[in-house]
Amino acid sequence: MSFTVAIVGRPNVGKSPLFNRLVGRRVALVHDQPGVTRDRREGEARLGDLDFTVIDTAGFEQAGAETLPGRMRAQTETAIEQADAVFVVMDARAGVLPDDRAFASLVRKSGKPAVLVVNKMEGRAGESGRLEAYSLGLGEPIPLSAEHNEGLPDLYDALREALPEKTAEAIERADDDGPHPIRVAIVGRPNAGKSTLINRLIGEERLLTSPEAGTTRDSIAVDLEWHGHHFRLHDTAGLRRRSRIDEKIEKLSVGETLNAVRFAEVVVVLLDVDNAFEEQDQKIADLIESEGRAVVIGINKWDLKDRNPGDISKLREKAREKLMQLPDVPLVAVSALTGEGLDRLMQAIIDAHAVWNRRIPTSALNRWFEDATSAHPPPAVSGRRLRLNYITQVTSRPPTFVVFCTRADAVPDAYKRYLVNSLREAFELPGTPIRLMLREKANPYEGKARRKH
Ligand code: GDP
Repeated sequence: MSFTVAIVGRPNVGKSPLFNRLVGRRVALVHDQPGVTRDRREGEARLGDLDFTVIDTAGFEQAGAETLPGRMRAQTETAIEQADAVFVVMDARAGVLPDDRAFASLVRKSGKPAVLVVNKMEGRAGESGRLEAYSLGLGEPIPLSAEHNEGLPDLYDALREALPEKTAEAIERADDDGPHPIRVAIVGRPNAGKSTLINRLIGEERLLTSPEAGTTRDSIAVDLEWHGHHFRLHDTAGLRRRSRIDEKIEKLSVGETLNAVRFAEVVVVLLDVDNAFEEQDQKIADLIESEGRAVVIGINKWDLKDRNPGDISKLREKAREKLMQLPDVPLVAVSALTGEGLDRLMQAIIDAHAVWNRRIPTSALNRWFEDATSAHPPPAVSGRRLRLNYITQVTSRPPTFVVFCTRADAVPDAYKRYLVNSLREAFELPGTPIRLMLREKANPYEGKARRKH
């Protein structure tokens, strides 16, 4: 176990939604051992590349209200004691209440590193609450919407800052365990050479002739190490077998492709150099785009080509024209048969995976946003200017951004495309699907008397 974070705060500020975000689908353990109260949950959390234990102190909220203060305090103190760092959660919309001050003071007294999380910040309706939160003396409040899955990248940065050594150790240790393999699927039309490529990568031709292996139609995963990098390959036994006994299904199997795409982080679309970028290839590209996976195009059977300078640029040009949904997608020429180009293919997979996982710091993002929106201001719609206020990256895999603005519905698609293209270029995010959403910002000052903080 690397380190432990306790989530504390008064009831209903959103501790459990934060806990659930961090733990995801991993099973949360409710401890039921002597000395460990049932009023709290522990889970294995994942935040970016950090794995740690998280303790949620929310359980006792079901206890009778009159008993709350004493139990709450005892629970919180125990949790803080066991933790290496504390997330102190408050509700931005409610502002700072006396109980928030009590929790903040408990945490300050403990001397444990703390991150002050102001939750329910979707649409920034809680901006004044966030400003108030500075008065808790726990440093910069980190805006979050656990419900809408916004702000986790900033929480990650804050945690690394609050707990620099333990988080660095945890990342190193994870690297020592061997990094998580990159999940890869190879898709494409029949005869593109998928089976040949998979066999070449696995390097286990003998699997084909073994009656036990490769005889089921189930798809399986094969782990693969390539020059020290780890990959997990989606390998349909049927695919391998088909090439052997030559019972080709001439139609693209959409269901199988979809399964493979869903399995993968990076999808290699394998195309036969002689008939690349046809309608079915565009369908595959659409599917990958809508599933939000990273993509690499492999142009196969390169050994059959007379090579001329400029061939690759021509293919890239064609990709740009035919696969408009995936701009600047990485493209590598390979021969599954001879093994030529496979090093470049694997490197392209690693690079595409990194782009897909990228998190852009909020400050750099907003510097770009100001430049991009002042170079090309959004158009006026029905005579009124649209105001775009700021942008935040809500998640990666694929990179996903929210722009807060007035009249989200009125922003034309062409303008959204302009922003996405500019973002792609500014932060070098080639090929990967990018999600950009618009959300209306509730201005906390609108229609209200200005408040002093
Ligand atoms: P799949 O349907 O996509 O799995 O395609 P296969 O792997 O079965 O390949 C279809 C045909 O193309 C087979 O006859 C392969 O031997 C051939 N093939 C696959 N890759 C290459 C390659 O890189 N070069 C050449 N010359 N032939 C290839």
